Amino acid sequence: MKTLKDINIENKKVLIRCDFNVPMKEGKIADDTRITAALPTIKYCLEKNAKVILFSHLGRVKEASDLEKNNLAPVAKRLEELLGQPVTFIDKTRGEELENAINNMKEKDIILVQNTRYEDLEGKKESKNDPELGAYWASLGDVFVNDAFGTIHRAHASNVGIASHLNSCVGFLIEKELTALQELDNPKHPFVVVLGGAKVADKIGVIENLVKKADKILIGGGMAFTFLKAEGYEIGNSLLDQENIEFCQKVIKEHPDKIVLPVDVAVTTEYSEKEDYKVKDISDLEYNEMGLDIGPSTEKLFENYLKEASIAVWNGPLGVYEFEKYKQGTDHILKFVVDNNIKIILGGGDIVAAASQSGYKEKVYHASTGGGATLEYLEGKKLPGLEAIK
Ligand code: AMP
Repeated sequence: MKTLKDINIENKKVLIRCDFNVPMKEGKIADDTRITAALPTIKYCLEKNAKVILFSHLGRVKEASDLEKNNLAPVAKRLEELLGQPVTFIDKTRGEELENAINNMKEKDIILVQNTRYEDLEGKKESKNDPELGAYWASLGDVFVNDAFGTIHRAHASNVGIASHLNSCVGFLIEKELTALQELDNPKHPFVVVLGGAKVADKIGVIENLVKKADKILIGGGMAFTFLKAEGYEIGNSLLDQENIEFCQKVIKEHPDKIVLPVDVAVTTEYSEKEDYKVKDISDLEYNEMGLDIGPSTEKLFENYLKEASIAVWNGPLGVYEFEKYKQGTDHILKFVVDNNIKIILGGGDIVAAASQSGYKEKVYHASTGGGATLEYLEGKKLPGLEAIK
């Protein structure tokens, strides 16, 4: 994969696809992590005297009323503050104003183009990778840098479209993500996978891909109960993915030595924090009880496998981490992997949110920020945004 240091950007017009899809509250940026994360790539291009033209999406644009709340203007302001230099914001995604601004750029100038998804208002041109739009944006620059990992699993005009017309590479953010995730392609052994979260249905692709490579798959969270049901346990009112019981049976049958299920769980009688909970052995659940977290013996069991791991990956929380009471299992294992320096990659989405809440995100080996992109990587799928660069 070509990265930023592999292509000549000196004095060039460099188009960078960033991920400035920041949370907004009443027109203000609620969290600027994604903007600060983009700075190394931008600064590197400035050091090389490039003319930097930034693209990003922000939210979804389905109707005219979505335009103003997804306006990228506040991002331009924040970027100016962070970089300590002017950022010209062009409130258009195409046309004379944009073209003139680019033609008048000097070295080290920065332009931020309006939200690429403004092009979705008529005919979803951005999201459907309209060929004319990708070619047009590409015509504005000399080279293309994709640094938006979160949309790498999508074929949009602002990533795949532009990349198919210009000499392209990935930026530092994507490079960092790939360097970590690629360690899972041919993992060192023992390779341990931790899976949690709600539904088996969402994780079928990940299980099918990783079960081939993993030495152990430790399953917690809501999805463990469908596996336990498949093993014949009474799971009471715990989360059940009825349609996938057979899938779970098949996985257990084909890989009996790899699948590790909870041996005890924290149970209660309603999906809330109001009631007290009990820790119960997995064979003792009553018909009116539901398991909302793994129990201490399961934590020990999981830890014993994790401490042997050469590398591990973890997708999905092991309990209902949104409730203080039922985030203990997830937190406990997070603390264990951090305290024991276990090389673990948190595979996007809710587990990264959980780790961020409890202060472990910065301490783990790698926390992948991709959400859907990370999940598709773990499923072994080809990611269109990367294929276009290859
Ligand atoms: P996912 O997006 O598939 O990773 O699922 C994350 C969700 O799984 C979180 O909202 C958790 O509350 C939920 N979850 C984890 N454990 C359980 C459980 N035992 N019962 C119900 N939901 C759970």
